[in-house]
Amino acid sequence: MGTFNYSDEKFADIQMLRYKVDGFENLTLKQKTFIYHLQEAALWGRDILFDQNGLYNLEIRNILEAIYTDETGNESDKNLDGFREYTKRVWFSNGIHHHYGCEKFVPGFTKEWFVEHVKKAKVAIGDERLNTICDVIFNPDVMQKRVNLAEGVDLVKTSACNYYQGVTQAEAEAFYAEQKQKGDPLHPVMYGMNSTLIKKGGEIMEERWTTKGKYGAQLTKIVENLRLARTYAEDAQQQAVIDKLIEHYETGDLKAFDEYSILWVDNTEPLIDFVNGFIECYGDPLGLKCSWESIVNFKDLEATKRTETLSSNAQWFEDNSPVAPEFKKEKVKGISAKVIKAAILSGDLYPASAIGINLPNSDWVRAEHGSKSVTIGNLTDAYNKAAKGSGMLQEFAYGEEEIGIMEKYGDLTDDLHTDLHECLGHGSGKLLEGIDGDSLKAYGSTIEEARADLFALYYLADDKLIELGLLPDKEAYKASYIGQMQNGLLTQLVRIKPGDNIEEAHMRNRALIARWALEHGKAENVMELVQRDGKTYVKINDYEKLRNLFGDLLAEIQRIKSTGDYEEAKRLVETYGVKIDPELHSEILERYSKLNIAPYKGFINPVYTATKDCDGNITDVQIAYGEGYDEQMLRYSKKYSVAVGQEISTDKNK
Ligand code: ZN
Repeated sequence: MGTFNYSDEKFADIQMLRYKVDGFENLTLKQKTFIYHLQEAALWGRDILFDQNGLYNLEIRNILEAIYTDETGNESDKNLDGFREYTKRVWFSNGIHHHYGCEKFVPGFTKEWFVEHVKKAKVAIGDERLNTICDVIFNPDVMQKRVNLAEGVDLVKTSACNYYQGVTQAEAEAFYAEQKQKGDPLHPVMYGMNSTLIKKGGEIMEERWTTKGKYGAQLTKIVENLRLARTYAEDAQQQAVIDKLIEHYETGDLKAFDEYSILWVDNTEPLIDFVNGFIECYGDPLGLKCSWESIVNFKDLEATKRTETLSSNAQWFEDNSPVAPEFKKEKVKGISAKVIKAAILSGDLYPASAIGINLPNSDWVRAEHGSKSVTIGNLTDAYNKAAKGSGMLQEFAYGEEEIGIMEKYGDLTDDLHTDLHECLGHGSGKLLEGIDGDSLKAYGSTIEEARADLFALYYLADDKLIELGLLPDKEAYKASYIGQMQNGLLTQLVRIKPGDNIEEAHMRNRALIARWALEHGKAENVMELVQRDGKTYVKINDYEKLRNLFGDLLAEIQRIKSTGDYEEAKRLVETYGVKIDPELHSEILERYSKLNIAPYKGFINPVYTATKDCDGNITDVQIAYGEGYDEQMLRYSKKYSVAVGQEISTDKNK
């Protein structure tokens, strides 16, 4: 097998990546078939999000694609380059606004060029309609922001998202306040999550997203494929999950959605799991309407074995930590973190994706039935692998020896660091009796993250991990020490604007640990900051002693937590975790900008192909990774689309 390319093309502020679905080949035919139907159900929802993100998005996408694929008259010029980049951005954002910043894209081609090419590509559109479309694309005052959260204006009227038509913010708020008041106060459904709120003849009403309502064509296809998948579900409860979801899609009933969520949360046994539904509410300025998304995934058995090994040895780790005995738990229970592999991403998880899932969103369902919290291991892995080719390591590592260690062990120790942090670190130690868990106030989360990180760092260098078969040798842990020091002292600063302090708890924690260790190891020259050609590097001289420093700080941080020592928490965080040396900061930012790394990343999906026998039964499912970004987008638009204006409601009173 050839090498797998984690990085694909780059355009605008985007770097496209690929993720690998290791282990798919080893699934049974039944499991592969289940995934196959679920990923079809996932891809059929793509157009819903385009329409939710803006009234004209699908129509614009179709026009752009007609020009993009028109081979008759695309002479290479600046306009064409700008046009191709714009099209790629629209695909990436599922619309004409930036996926993260929400501002409308500025096209890198002229209106005249566009109109000329619309005609050349023989797009069936009247002049008046084309004028409207041009206004939407080229006029900076039209549909400026997808989601506007600025104070003092009507957020519904000033947001370009397509969740409200003809209603004001006040009207929408009053409409849902009334619904809430009428409903069950203890078990409220998520009012408004699956409908467009419209004003028709002076009356405000919901246009529900169901198989018979708005997005009916897409939801019907989704339901069709969910039904096909149902036969191959892994257990009876999973079939019940699918049945409830279908009921919700067919009726639009919000109670059915809560019931579905509860069944889904309880269904933890199957290897394969999926999300398919109206889930994320960030796209609505009022936070009520949910964007459609889907992910199909299966448990990462190898990673889960790793976390199970750690949690079954949790007591040994607790007993042997450098923390004072009175702050240790007599009986500790490790958490077996769940790691999953994404098999397909769609809707609001595609191409830009979260790397963890924590659902459902309903507060009362979470409180009474819990939630599923998982990390998506193969996406994290793709980020890490792609970062390797970015030049970061070569730019910031002290020398060849450090680069060699990082390249050899970096991935392994990163994963293990996360496991130790999550499975054991956060769960270790105890508060003294009578100590309030909130005593450290604003410094609490930084101290807590530092505690979990130090627990991980201390044990990464322990022979126990080699004994448990989690690390190969006594060299490996050095990768995590180099990584921790480089990141805490230097590289994490690239995420902060000049003049700002470090605010985020995980970042404060990393700075705290690294700067504290640097200072306290000075007398024995444990490590140092070295200047070379005007560049700053971290050089670790004594790894063993650095481990002892981590142990000392862990003991102190645990004491602060156990006794609720607010003053000392404050002193440590403020002294080591907050401020940035402006000279070092600008040096780091300059070195980083020269690497030309795209700030946003997204994923190209793998392609699943089913082989069928003459009766139409699936006999095998193959996975392939070679599809290009534009190839994939064009294929999805062709295969998983219904004609615009035909099935999707096009109420134009916005
Ligand atoms: Zn944590």
